[in-house]
Amino acid sequence: MHHFHYQGDELCCENIPLRKIAGQVGTPCYVYSCATLKHHFAVFDGAFHGMPHLICYSVKANGNIAILGLFAALGGGADIVSGGELFRARRAGISADRIVYSGVGKTQAEIDYALRENILMFNIESTQELEAISRRAAVLGLKARIALRVNPDVDPKTHPYISTGLKKNKFGIDIEQAIQAYEHARDLKSIEVVGIDCHIGSQLTEISPFIEALERLKLLASRLEQMGIRIQYVDLGGGLGIPYREEEPPHPREYAKAIIERLKDLPFKLILEPGRVIVGNAGLLLTEVLYIKKTPSKEFIIVDAGMNDLVRPSLYGSYHEIEPVLKNQREPRVVDVVGPICESSDFIARDRSLPMMQQGEILAVMSAGAYGFSMASNYNSRNRAAEVLVDGDRFHVIRKRESWEDLIRGETMPEFIKGAAGQ
Ligand SMILES: *Cc1c(COP(=O)(O)O)cnc(C)c1O
Repeated sequence: MHHFHYQGDELCCENIPLRKIAGQVGTPCYVYSCATLKHHFAVFDGAFHGMPHLICYSVKANGNIAILGLFAALGGGADIVSGGELFRARRAGISADRIVYSGVGKTQAEIDYALRENILMFNIESTQELEAISRRAAVLGLKARIALRVNPDVDPKTHPYISTGLKKNKFGIDIEQAIQAYEHARDLKSIEVVGIDCHIGSQLTEISPFIEALERLKLLASRLEQMGIRIQYVDLGGGLGIPYREEEPPHPREYAKAIIERLKDLPFKLILEPGRVIVGNAGLLLTEVLYIKKTPSKEFIIVDAGMNDLVRPSLYGSYHEIEPVLKNQREPRVVDVVGPICESSDFIARDRSLPMMQQGEILAVMSAGAYGFSMASNYNSRNRAAEVLVDGDRFHVIRKRESWEDLIRGETMPEFIKGAAGQ
């Protein structure tokens, strides 16, 4: 459920017509619905009511501090994958004892930062990383709480670029090797083993791969128990999918029920790391029609949002619904909606039936709340879009559009070039 609906011919976010936001803030512009974000968080969190749990929202899906602050106020924690995300989460008021840290390439500086913040746990992805964290914790006189991220080798049946729990993926530690790694971790003085973790992929539309992974984690936890290694936290990662088009992912309540059934008599605290399912359908991208261009073989709608703003169609061939923010009765036609970037992969939709559009009209690219702005870049020296949060009948710019000065911040021209350029 979300709060983007037509009131008459006007597409609105909650009570605000999107045309009004486009008019005041400009385009391209991401718009998020506060009511939808709250609702999605509450439904997901509430679904696990039957058991001790912590929702560690995956910051990489959408890391704006206003959104993180909203989840912090609802009792959420964070799943981070970099020092930068730790900085965001802390700035937004998420307490360190609700933060888990995943990722295969944590640097020493990032490890030190997380140790000093005293985060809840490191999800460790290799034995060398375990050594590095142990070493740094010893140097700093601190103790690191850890889980090993295991690779359960289950097929999430999603896009190969967002599968992470197959043997051939770079993520996690092979489940057979994990036993040895846990034994080693137990003997390290600066390490406290507290959990077991996996994350098998993103945009999953079935429950069975989650359950298969969970069963493997349970088996591993009981083998560890026999070795005297007690697990407190079972972290099942994120990955629950959303409907972009005709997908029918399980409802969070079904997903939760299947998980709770298999954990209810066990003494674990459950950690979940949802990203997309919370924010994906809570946001859209507004873009203006710049030109209509007809070639002998195609009709293109050229808009002012490019793959630097929303890379998912280019990167994964993803589908996003597109709606005119002002409904019209014009004849539909089959078009490609493309951006201004100098790449043929710069498209938002291909062979899409849309009512005929005119220059200056605004389109809404739906379901863009997750992996939208967070994957945006400055390619083609395009300043990144503004972000707006709507709450009922008010809205707030939660990130202003970048300026051209922002684009060259930190760049300098050395003397020897200035001389040659005659400046
Ligand atoms: C990306 C990621 C998530 C969130 O995945 P979603 O599909 O957005 O729910 C959770 N955990 C880890 C370790 C991740 O890398």
